[in-house]
Amino acid sequence: MSVATTLPGCTKPATEAQRPVLRERGQREVFCGLTGIVWLHRKMQDAFFLVVGSRTCAHLLQSAAGVMIFAEPRFATAIMEERDLAGMVDCQDELDRVVDRLLARRPDIKTLFLVGSCPSEVIKLDLGKAAERLGARHMPDVRILNYSGSGIETTFTQGEDACLAALVPEMPASAPEAAQELLIVGALPDIVEDQFLRLFSQLGIETVGVLPARNARDLPSVGPNTRYLLAQPFLSETAMALEDRGAQRLDALFPFGAEGTTGWLKAAADAFGIEEAHFDAVVAPGRERAKRAIEHARGALSGKRISFLPDSQLEVPLARFLATELDMEPVEVGTPYLHRAHCAQELDLIPPSARISEGQHVERQLDRVRADRPDLTVCGLGLANPLETEGLTTKWAIELVFSPIHGFDQAGDLAELFARPLRRRDVLEV
Ligand code: SF4
Repeated sequence: MSVATTLPGCTKPATEAQRPVLRERGQREVFCGLTGIVWLHRKMQDAFFLVVGSRTCAHLLQSAAGVMIFAEPRFATAIMEERDLAGMVDCQDELDRVVDRLLARRPDIKTLFLVGSCPSEVIKLDLGKAAERLGARHMPDVRILNYSGSGIETTFTQGEDACLAALVPEMPASAPEAAQELLIVGALPDIVEDQFLRLFSQLGIETVGVLPARNARDLPSVGPNTRYLLAQPFLSETAMALEDRGAQRLDALFPFGAEGTTGWLKAAADAFGIEEAHFDAVVAPGRERAKRAIEHARGALSGKRISFLPDSQLEVPLARFLATELDMEPVEVGTPYLHRAHCAQELDLIPPSARISEGQHVERQLDRVRADRPDLTVCGLGLANPLETEGLTTKWAIELVFSPIHGFDQAGDLAELFARPLRRRDVLEV
């Protein structure tokens, strides 16, 4: 479901001494946090996501994730009916019955997430209390956690952030005398995760945990000896929860493109005392492969102007990749939320001519796109068609979240995702 909320509009320049950011509040056009279930249920293979929501929430999930006909699904919606919403029945009792039935029928479920939605938040259904009560009943067979995927004031990638933050308190504490360990944070396709684990192993970093793990029950340990690398720029709540457990973030570029991936690996190599020559020897082949792969897209992208509308929170690192490795010119880089510390290195590399914006006032933003006339506009599904009818070439932002785009071996595909709409435009114009 697309969320459109209207809040008092305001546009004010940032007052910080750092790079100015145009901050906007107003109507937004983004998916809600339930969308994260689409990739999280594929990643955590012993987890089940039970959305406590409305028929609308159920439709969103089914249309986004598809209906699994042959496999047992690993997500569902406990639909709140009108009498629930009117407070005519005790929702907590109903939820207990649904969960008990589900767990009796599905012994393969080892972690159950109760996922809040707009309706459950509006009636203030306390899913934290429900998770505690049900958890006490079903432990140790099933761990029951909760987070919110509601679309009120959030964007869709925050669903992953909220889910991972809910897992952090469950992570075992690492032994105080344990050696320094590395933690990769953010859901990556298994194939990409394996590539990174191989590279860390070749570098000589042996103790590497991953959050989320493929089995939600195999949580990595965390403690003051944990150094973590964010694989995604939208994990601020998870980062805070990890730091509360003593972990320290390694400041790095995000692993997009040849240089982003090199910078990300280098941050870990430096923290773990890996020698420069060994780092270069391990990383050089992948880096060269990535550079060669993105060359295919250079002809279509070099010198082209691009605007990002706020959507996935991947906008800042992707704009950096396109500007520094493919000579594109970012005109506006809009992002729903900007974490200045996590994106500091990225922001430094985005050309000063680019306008950075945070939040959304969709009408004003569309006016700016129409005035800027970029060659390519990256935006949500709901805005792409109207812009195409006005002669602008667009790219659906959500495709970037569903495609494997991290790391050396995906750099060429990442560049292609941007080149394709421009090539299609050129073909149509001939
Ligand atoms: S959580 Fe809110 S925004 Fe998302 S599908 Fe349900 S009602 Fe719509």
